[in-house]
Amino acid sequence: MAYPATASNLLLARCGLVDPASIDDYEAHDGFQALRRALEMGPEWVIEQLTLSGLVGRGGAAFPTGRKWQAVRAAQGEPRYVILNADESEPGTFSNRKLLEEDPFSSVEAMAIAGLTVGSALGYAYIRGEYTTATRYLATAIDAARERGYLGADVLGSGRPFDIEIRRGGGAYICGEETSLFNSMEGLRGEPRSKPPFPVNVGVFRKPTLINNVETLVSVQPILLKGGEAFAQLGVPGFTGTKLFCLSGHIAHPGVYEAPGGTTLRALLEMAGGVANGRDLQAVLMGGAAGMFVPLEHLDQPLIPSALTPLGLTIGSGAVIIFDDTVDMWEVTRLIAEFFAEESCGQCVPCRVGTKRQVEILHRFTMGHGRPDDEQLLQEIGAAMGDASICGLGQTAAWAVLSALKVFPSPSGDIGA
Ligand code: SF4
Repeated sequence: MAYPATASNLLLARCGLVDPASIDDYEAHDGFQALRRALEMGPEWVIEQLTLSGLVGRGGAAFPTGRKWQAVRAAQGEPRYVILNADESEPGTFSNRKLLEEDPFSSVEAMAIAGLTVGSALGYAYIRGEYTTATRYLATAIDAARERGYLGADVLGSGRPFDIEIRRGGGAYICGEETSLFNSMEGLRGEPRSKPPFPVNVGVFRKPTLINNVETLVSVQPILLKGGEAFAQLGVPGFTGTKLFCLSGHIAHPGVYEAPGGTTLRALLEMAGGVANGRDLQAVLMGGAAGMFVPLEHLDQPLIPSALTPLGLTIGSGAVIIFDDTVDMWEVTRLIAEFFAEESCGQCVPCRVGTKRQVEILHRFTMGHGRPDDEQLLQEIGAAMGDASICGLGQTAAWAVLSALKVFPSPSGDIGA
């Protein structure tokens, strides 16, 4: 079955429509139909549909979801685990929160599908500690699903078990990184582990683990209901299906917007009503703090890797933060650098030291005391962090700073003066 040509509201279809606390309402809106289909058709069919769909992880890394599920299914070792990564901490990113608060049963259903597909009997939902409302709704949904037989020792009479437990994050940004998340769950310090080994083979409790974020998992249901090929026909080659974008800052209607792959920043801005209060657009930060400032001449670029990578841009988490012409962008850049200096776990030198040096230099900039070689220093620090940091935090912590150097005029002419 194909989607209507204009269909793009797949993931948000139930948000605002159903009562998030009512399993009856969820069932009345296609709820648990994908789980029934997955049980009927079997794990190989599920993975085949995911592969045909072209779905890639929506958290930023964009790893093919079908390949990941297949790898966990084929991994040696028991038990296997499924983790819903809902430790959504990237500044400007709140799509997972919306999905959990307004359609929590879809995450429960998707976790059950994932568990039964990869051969796991237990899943964990790891939720950002501050997401109290989302946690409450998800806990209610898990209990209701268990009562109806969608979870438990015998899922829908299949003879196969799957259940879900909730774990709450302690507030560290780095614990959204999958291996730090594992350490956090194991009661260890929230520091990334070196990879390889990869989580599909050695994950939480050193067992094979499938970990996906909320948006990725929730994308599985429409794929199974409509078929992977129909999903692939949405969007464009290189970015199939739909993506959630979080628009915030100086935008007329902040919120979560769903758009087919290949949309542009200009289209997203128009969907959200344009710059607030009729002011001029000064800057767009794409991907949150771990993203970069987009030169305004690229607003019409399709948001797909083949168009963005040559420009040094990525979609990242889907955060799009808008700044009007009243903002001091070097102050914003300094705040981003301070964020990373605060959140660096300190395990490796390039990140631990580099994030601090960035802050010092940007502090000089914003105080009007920039030194002649500061810009070169920032470039060198950014390169070292990108090349030598252990994890994505350190590898991306200079992106916003380096992009600011390209996009914004030097403050008071002091940089490199
Ligand atoms: Fe920790 Fe930063 Fe190194 Fe990642 S890059 S392990 S956050 S110090």
